[in-house]
Amino acid sequence: MLQGNNSSSGQKSMLAVTLEVMNRAADRLGLDQSIRNVISKPQRILSVSVPVRMDDGSIQVFDGYRVQHNLARGPAKGGIRFHPEVTMDEVVALAMNMTWKCAVVDIPYGGAKGGVVVDPTKLSIGELERLTRRFTSEISIIIGPEKDIPAPDVNTNPQIMAWVMDTYSMHMGYSVPSVVTGKPIEIGGSVGRVDATGRGCIYTVMELAKRIGLRLEGASAAVQGFGNVGSHAAVFLQDLGCRVVAVSDVHGALYNEDGLDCRAIKAVAARTGSIMDYQGPAERIPREAALEVPVDILVPAALENQIHAGNAHRIQAKIIAEGANGPTTNEADEILRSKGTIIIPDILANAGGVTVSYFEWVQGLQSLSWTEKQVAAELERRMVTAFNQVYDRAQAEEVDLRTAAYLIAIERVAQAIKLRGIYP
Ligand code: NAD
Repeated sequence: MLQGNNSSSGQKSMLAVTLEVMNRAADRLGLDQSIRNVISKPQRILSVSVPVRMDDGSIQVFDGYRVQHNLARGPAKGGIRFHPEVTMDEVVALAMNMTWKCAVVDIPYGGAKGGVVVDPTKLSIGELERLTRRFTSEISIIIGPEKDIPAPDVNTNPQIMAWVMDTYSMHMGYSVPSVVTGKPIEIGGSVGRVDATGRGCIYTVMELAKRIGLRLEGASAAVQGFGNVGSHAAVFLQDLGCRVVAVSDVHGALYNEDGLDCRAIKAVAARTGSIMDYQGPAERIPREAALEVPVDILVPAALENQIHAGNAHRIQAKIIAEGANGPTTNEADEILRSKGTIIIPDILANAGGVTVSYFEWVQGLQSLSWTEKQVAAELERRMVTAFNQVYDRAQAEEVDLRTAAYLIAIERVAQAIKLRGIYP
């Protein structure tokens, strides 16, 4: 059963937080109660048991979910995560966020998410493949290029997407590349997908810098998390002439007042799995300190709830661009806003990934491929447009960027629901 309220530990569940932000924006919009009722709940939740033959011959059964939050603007879109702490509530919240994210960058999708309760690091490669294929088979009744298009998320990657695509194709009897995005390029993936989220995030920083008169050349920046999103965001910032003074990953943090060599750190992390193996000029600082160094720009690109009531007072950045999903708690958001920090919200700042996923889907449906230049130019166009719509709305209504992004997203979804009407 959906909880959507506070957990027994007293901590707000992710779904409760998501609904809180949505309701705040809906109040401001004076949203029709009937529409609010529709968007407060997911349209479909598929709960599946996934039996997997383990290497030792035993059968383990994993719980999995695929949730489609809203389909008014188009087929559902959203990643699949493999994590031991996946819950149905969390998957619902993430699906809901995908609805708003797709709407804010105006791509023709509704929101979805999938999850399997599993620690993939404990599986052999064969077990991981069998788990992925059986999960795909179980959810195949609701996915498809016109219905619901999964993508990678936490602990899933292009290889896993290749298995999803192959399994679905085996069911159909022919290849269906557009059933997933984030595939390897050799089987229909798009160029420019790997760095799309980091790139898109920095396009929003560039636009904000123009609006507030911040010169990026020489500006200081810190990046928390040095995986797909963080490492690319850091390199793009450096390429713009920023001094990236601090970066962190799960193992620790590096600091250099004159600016770190992010390309070199990325190469080391790719080789060893840890930024802490970097031997170039950098001081080792505590992991959490990377969030608190005095900088112009902070990009949290690790996990959710990293900026909370306990550390928000110590955060000194002028701009926070949320590369991660949900890195700032609602309490921290309030503290930061009262200090004048400008936050580019996750549903806008990290929408570059789903935007290039959309390009991948379009290329697949048309059986043609774009160049890297085309992908980057179209991504920039869409991110810049979305940012400016959100910024202008925030100015016009004298609200923060998060509220403005939700106002636009909810309005677009509500309009689609109204136009289509309620069946029957
Ligand atoms: P990833 O697994 O590639 O990287 C995560 C990074 O965070 C790793 O470097 C890890 O070491 C680091 N990390 C983990 N815990 C940390 C901690 N406590 N302090 C500092 N660093 C820590 O994941 P990713 O794909 O880069 O995703 C990061 C975030 O961005 C997630 O919230 C994800 O949902 C979100 N996101 C990703 C994409 C995408 O296209 N990959 C798109 C939209 C949103």
